Amino acid sequence: MNVESMNLHHIAYLSVGSNLGNKLENCRNGIANLTRLSGIRLVDQSRIYRTEPVDYLDQDWFINYVVKIETDIEPSELLRRIKSIERAAGRKQHAIRFGPRVLDLDILLFDDLVRDEPMLTIPHPRMHERRFVLRPICDIDPEINHPVLCRSMQALLDDLNDQEQGITEYTCSNSSY
Ligand code: AMP
Repeated sequence: MNVESMNLHHIAYLSVGSNLGNKLENCRNGIANLTRLSGIRLVDQSRIYRTEPVDYLDQDWFINYVVKIETDIEPSELLRRIKSIERAAGRKQHAIRFGPRVLDLDILLFDDLVRDEPMLTIPHPRMHERRFVLRPICDIDPEINHPVLCRSMQALLDDLNDQEQGITEYTCSNSSY
């Protein structure tokens, strides 16, 4: 059975980011490699943004966006696949936490699942604090509900301090990023 005819009954949202090398190409290749695998179909994607680093500030700005996928694989298998794609992209396993990375793929939401394990926490434990997640996910659907906080993505975005976490839409005029 090919992917188009499968019943891909889960919906997940993934965050995609890079701040090393050709950032946009790293992101696009990562998502192409993921959705090429059986059981995962790309449904939608946000606009693309340039975003200021958070947590570890002494590094270049990132390219970030969010994708919506349909899938029939379980969350642990999805995590295993995204970690394998990060490694294949050249991601170093023991680099500085929150430091520069060639490719970062995170599971933000998986249906309405709530799962709290160190290896895999869903919803992603920091997604509600991060403009580089909330702004793009609102492009896809601002009414998506956070299943723990029980608030929409737009409401969470509106709560952030406007002065923090710079973000600009990526355009051809800043395409050197
Ligand atoms: P990162 O630095 O973002 O690649 O993530 C570091 C670790 O966080 C990974 O090795 C995962 O086991 C763990 N993790 C926990 N929850 C998540 C999630 N929702 N998405 C991706 N990684 C997660």
